Amino acid sequence: MSDIARRVAVLGATGSIGTKALAVAGRYPDRIRLTALAAGTDAERLAALGREFDVRRLVLGDPAGLGRLRTAAAPGTTVEAGAEAVAALAVREDVDLVINGIVGRVGLEASLAAVGAGKPLGLANKESLVLAGPLLMETAAHTGAVVLPIDSEHSGLFQALQGRAAGEVAGLRVTASGGPFRGYDRHRLAGVTPEEALNHPIWPMGPRITVDSATLFNKGLEVIETHHLFQVPLERIGVWVHPQSVVHAVVELVDGSILAQLSAPDMLLPVQYAMSYPERWAAEAPGCRLPDWKSLTFEEVDRETFPALDLAYRAGRAGGTAPTVLNAADEVAVDAFLGGRIAFPEIAAVVEKTLDRLDPSPADSLESIAAADTEARALARETVEGRTS
Ligand code: MG
Repeated sequence: MSDIARRVAVLGATGSIGTKALAVAGRYPDRIRLTALAAGTDAERLAALGREFDVRRLVLGDPAGLGRLRTAAAPGTTVEAGAEAVAALAVREDVDLVINGIVGRVGLEASLAAVGAGKPLGLANKESLVLAGPLLMETAAHTGAVVLPIDSEHSGLFQALQGRAAGEVAGLRVTASGGPFRGYDRHRLAGVTPEEALNHPIWPMGPRITVDSATLFNKGLEVIETHHLFQVPLERIGVWVHPQSVVHAVVELVDGSILAQLSAPDMLLPVQYAMSYPERWAAEAPGCRLPDWKSLTFEEVDRETFPALDLAYRAGRAGGTAPTVLNAADEVAVDAFLGGRIAFPEIAAVVEKTLDRLDPSPADSLESIAAADTEARALARETVEGRTS
């Protein structure tokens, strides 16, 4: 191990991924030096983290909170605000690794900036790969930047793929817990409530991703991310339902051998591996004694009852801005479901209708992606209104 600490910028420092990244930094002060933190809106919490971890550069995404950040930050701290200032952290000279735990499309700019500058990117921001996968990975290939996935499934694939040549890999599988409605049929799904959808059996997460886990949209987005991250065709990427969430990913090799990554369901490991890569450091994550699990089960996805997964494959195959449309329409539909305006199965119906109505265009710039996002949201809202009136 090198004795020079990695200088790390954590974007989304107050969120769940950021909190884990700070825990790793706190455990390994000799290996990780935090040089910058960014958060969306919580100026006071960001300032407190700056004091706690002795970080002298803080950026708030929301410009309205700059005054509060300035007041709360420790003396001698440089404070800034705005999306551009957040993205600018990713290219700083004193940053060796960027952890992007920002939620939403606003995280895209920082990802592109980091890989554009050739910096390793610990990536938890889903939109970066779903909306701009080819752009991000082509930029990374050009500069030599490594994209280190921070999601249990992609981290599992990344770990299991270490040392494998592309020609040795026959297929990739990500697992899905199946969410709270595993085993339901269409009829039973029609009556489920937002409260039931928000009750995820394994992973505590924000409301949108929890509903996306219940519909399997989240798994569909992960398939698209897998496709771009590992440059494997969609038809060689599959999903298995695995309710225990211990096996996160499976790599099928051409000789029939399979390599799986197993660990207790806790995001600390994916976060820490992105920060320690290519090394492995001891962690305080819960262990994973296989005999304690009694049985680990796997089943195929019921694709008729959960059509979201196939919609994601469809958008992934269409390429361009189609995944942007899928993602935007889903966000609108999930909002409508949580607001009691549409039923659970209509989430997928709204997304399908929006995909039908919008032809994809090339996703070759932030502008074209933003335009598709805006248009898809407007069309999805129209569809929701048509269904509720
Ligand atoms: Mg996941």
